[in-house]
Amino acid sequence: MNASFPHSAPVVIIGSGLAGLTAALSLAPMPVVLVTRAALGEETSSAWAQGGIAAALGEDDSPELHLADTLAAGDGLVDEKAARAILDQAPAAIGWLEAQGVQFDRKADGALELGLEAAHCRRRIVHGKGDASGATIIRALTERVAATPSISVLSDTQARRLVLRDGRVAGVALERAGEAYAIAARAVLLATGGLGGLFDATTNPQGNFGHGIALAARAGAVLADMEFVQFHPTALASDRTPLALISEAVRGEGAHLTNDLGDRFMADVSGQELAPRDIVARAISAEIAQGRKVFLDARPALGQHFSTRFPSIAALCREAGIEPESQPIPVRPAVHYHMGGVATDLCGRTSVEGLWAVGEVAATGLHGANRLASNSLLEASVMGRLAAEDIGGLAFAGSATLGSSRPSPRPSAASIRPLVSRSLGVLRDAESMKSLIAAVRPLADENSPAADPALVALAMASFALLRQESRGAHARTDFPAKAETGTRRRMTMQQILQFADELGETRLARSA
Ligand SMILES: Cc1cc2nc3c(=O)[nH]c(=O)nc-3n(C[C@H](O)[C@H](O)[C@H](O)COP(=O)(O)OP(=O)(O)OC[C@H]3O[C@@H](n4cnc5c(N)ncnc54)[C@H](O)[C@@H]3O)c2cc1C
Repeated sequence: MNASFPHSAPVVIIGSGLAGLTAALSLAPMPVVLVTRAALGEETSSAWAQGGIAAALGEDDSPELHLADTLAAGDGLVDEKAARAILDQAPAAIGWLEAQGVQFDRKADGALELGLEAAHCRRRIVHGKGDASGATIIRALTERVAATPSISVLSDTQARRLVLRDGRVAGVALERAGEAYAIAARAVLLATGGLGGLFDATTNPQGNFGHGIALAARAGAVLADMEFVQFHPTALASDRTPLALISEAVRGEGAHLTNDLGDRFMADVSGQELAPRDIVARAISAEIAQGRKVFLDARPALGQHFSTRFPSIAALCREAGIEPESQPIPVRPAVHYHMGGVATDLCGRTSVEGLWAVGEVAATGLHGANRLASNSLLEASVMGRLAAEDIGGLAFAGSATLGSSRPSPRPSAASIRPLVSRSLGVLRDAESMKSLIAAVRPLADENSPAADPALVALAMASFALLRQESRGAHARTDFPAKAETGTRRRMTMQQILQFADELGETRLARSA
């Protein structure tokens, strides 16, 4: 084993986005090993966030109003208790981030500047350097982590498997540059982010295909809400991979959606351009399906002020040859956020002892069937602190070591992406999801690069097929109505595999 690799640690955190960095800093001075696939803070959705963090801080606002908006966006599936607990912590989370050195934008009178985003009834989006909110936060936190002696960072290192002993997580198997390592740990915290990398059109870092979900599922953890994927309506339509995002905040400042005939097609819809994301995404998809092009026109609302308010977005537009001050911006929907993941309680505990999950990899119930914009950075930060409090309160004794073995092939979602993109898009139907399940089920068991992405795809498709209704971000052409009552679904990997196998047997019996 490489001398720079620790054999054991009280806590191993996997992922260096907002969730992982917050947990690591909050655990100090407890020794923590922070494992991250790229450099610290790189390849994170967190660093790419534009809009900011939702917090009820305005004089006309309250946690109750924030909760009401969250419940409405979540379309009947928000866990109200979890949501209330997380949203109540929002002002404290902003205070904690500022104490770590994050500088949010403030007005001349010193008060925080608050932006407006879709489906929020008040201005409540705290942002940094205009639209560089994520970069501002991650820069400050990575500097703080680098200056914290209790945190050992293992960068360019990928978590490959959770190691189980006596039914509990006892450590993690890792790979760096083709070499296998293992660290024994009393607590492993997954902060591996979302799964946009499973789709062709996404705003997420491409390597983030939901690996933490596969790791947890293979360790026996319960998954929840896996069918709910949020499509951001306004990714910049270009050849870039991943697609650049045109934040909702641009619509918040008054930009309009038009098609190439010049129709403002959201004008008669309730909420207009600031209707919930699923509604706007479906409206744009419908235009594109009719062969139209869709544009976000910020000229009347922002004109020459565009670059001042949205410097990063202006740079992304120019990179694609668009001058947002004088030209409408071509847009299309893209996968942006996953509401589901590893089921956790309000301490970030999963159903497997020794395993915690926070941030986008987790499903606390805050988002229900659809996330309210800018509630995810909030959740990552609040849950990172709550999980750290929980882990920090445990008594850890003794240290073990684990043997390391040859790593399995490095995971790659390349062969799974086209299948998932075809079957789990903005509009879904049973036939196409059944074909996806039939295609990925055998791959999930293989010792191949496709195995972990295939397992995540299988979980999503199984949850999505079982939800025979359209709700929130999950829209089915064969079940267009919403069921009278909605319930959240939870399943383990064993249950998912069994469901897929039974489905396969039924298909075989039908075709015999
Ligand atoms: C372009 C964009 C804009 C957004 N804007 C906003 C916004 O304005 N407001 C808002 O609230 N939300 C926004 N979101 C969503 C929000 O950014 C994410 O939900 C949030 O940042 C997730 O944080 P996280 O720490 O859970 O994951 P991430 O920040 O994605 O970090 C995941 C980490 O895990 C690592 N990792 C993954 N698998 C492994 C493995 N096997 N081994 C080792 N490391 C691994 C990754 O490399 C990365 O370091 C945006 C998302 C995108 C993509």
